[in-house]
Amino acid sequence: MTRLLEARGIEKTFHNGDEDTQVLKGIDLDLEPGEMVALLGASGSGKSTLLSIVGLLLRPSAGTLTISGQAIDGLSEKERSHFRNTRLGFVFQFHHLLPDFTALENVAFPAAAPAGGLSRQMRERASELLGRVGLSDRADFGANRLSGGQKQRVAIARALMNAPDLVIADEPTGNLDRESADRVLDLMREVNKADGATFLICTHDESVAERCTRRITLLDGRVS
Ligand code: ADP
Ligand code: MG
Repeated sequence: MTRLLEARGIEKTFHNGDEDTQVLKGIDLDLEPGEMVALLGASGSGKSTLLSIVGLLLRPSAGTLTISGQAIDGLSEKERSHFRNTRLGFVFQFHHLLPDFTALENVAFPAAAPAGGLSRQMRERASELLGRVGLSDRADFGANRLSGGQKQRVAIARALMNAPDLVIADEPTGNLDRESADRVLDLMREVNKADGATFLICTHDESVAERCTRRITLLDGRVS
């Protein structure tokens, strides 16, 4: 089976004025298909930076990245964004739902936006995903009428809309109470087991890490 992610020697330096900060100092990270990996580390250790690089939202200063056998380094900006939109899913701490759209429209958005509209197949897929996250009865609710935990479950369904190879989640439970956080986590684990979707989740939350299949920790710019 093709390895899902191969990151080699990833470095990232930010330049602020005349000050340079090297946040990542040579990260090697492999993910196999079906893994659910927790990325731990103190605040400011570079977790979000690494996730942004793996999610093709940010370019590394050095290092190479291969996702599902596709060498990423030589891709143009347009090819990177196509790969990101079709092969990766994202869940963030803040759900970023479109408040004036319904739950179903939000879930379908990653497919509907590039296509310029919502097809019947998209509607069916979004509806099935809302069922998976236990929100069939909320499909036609405006996103702003959902609770925090419900919004985050919609965000997970949205991340799965295009059947991504890899779901990247940055503190997905950071903004939720314990009960909603546990529900969101159990759901991610269920999806991971049932579909073999691969997850890379950065978190402060020990109970997130406990549910993952493996954990890695960022310390001083390196994986330990
Ligand atoms: P974490 O997610 O582990 O809390 P981050 O990846 O957000 O850490 O940040 C790691 C370090 O990189 C921090 O010191 C932060 O200030 C710095 N940093 C992150 N993004 C930028 C940026 N765009 N410009 C300059 N510094 C940044
Ligand atoms: Mg962060």
